[in-house]
Amino acid sequence: MNILKSIQHIAKSPFVNMGPIKLRQPLPNAGIENVDPFLLLHHYGPYAISEFNNPFDLGPHPHRGFEPVTLLFKGEQLHRDSLGNDMVVKAGGVQWTTAGRGIVHAEAPTKEFVKQGGDLEGIQLWLNLPSKHKLMPPNYQHLEAEQIPIVYSDDKKVKLNVIAGQQANEKGLITTQTEVNVFTANAEKDGEIQINLPDNHQSLIYLLEGDVLINSKEVLKKGGNQMIVFSTNGNLISFKANENSTLLVLSGKPIKEKITQYGPYVMNTQTEILEAMRDYQQGKMGYLY
Ligand code: MN
Repeated sequence: MNILKSIQHIAKSPFVNMGPIKLRQPLPNAGIENVDPFLLLHHYGPYAISEFNNPFDLGPHPHRGFEPVTLLFKGEQLHRDSLGNDMVVKAGGVQWTTAGRGIVHAEAPTKEFVKQGGDLEGIQLWLNLPSKHKLMPPNYQHLEAEQIPIVYSDDKKVKLNVIAGQQANEKGLITTQTEVNVFTANAEKDGEIQINLPDNHQSLIYLLEGDVLINSKEVLKKGGNQMIVFSTNGNLISFKANENSTLLVLSGKPIKEKITQYGPYVMNTQTEILEAMRDYQQGKMGYLY
């Protein structure tokens, strides 16, 4: 039987400064520490990138203990990492990095894109790893927009891109370490869709652009409330677009472990954080050439 999940939190997406970079951070947010297994959500841009304005240039830095995922909506970025990957992601594409025991990576708009100029917009999502996988070998998965399976709403006005997990008869191509659904949605005005999310998953919808009515009840609108977190009860969510809209839909089975986070590391204990800092300094997470 299909039962709508109830709405637990509704939240704005305030701007924060990450060094010189100004971006939106819906998660963590006042009152919401995380939506286990999702730890952090950064929404960057749209920035008008040019040779004179290139704020989103992240030099080499390490990670351990979780999966940083980049979903690019506009523009073109270069990803380089200590595994030797050197990959360009374009709008609609996905970079899924499993930091595991350690990786060093860098992300920035490609030189060609900076020269040519244009909008850059993306989501960076931090997905936790359970303790048994925190020190797994690092890995990198890459999807181009064309590879991503699509589920259409009955009215054909909503396109749901199945990046990871499953919806209707479509399965995402990303190999995940825990049960998660990562979908993006492009909705035309008046388009409506129902999405099945398991009742043992925590889940949320984040609005990047537009205006939508969620579960026939709460409105998300760019610049106003942009995120809804659902309760674990129920197995269905729905939305109707009041304008052309772009959304992110996440659900995952909670890991339910103690989290100790420091900068780019997400572990279970303070000792493990100190080990991560030492291992990075000793070069055990690799190098970027
Ligand atoms: Mn990173």
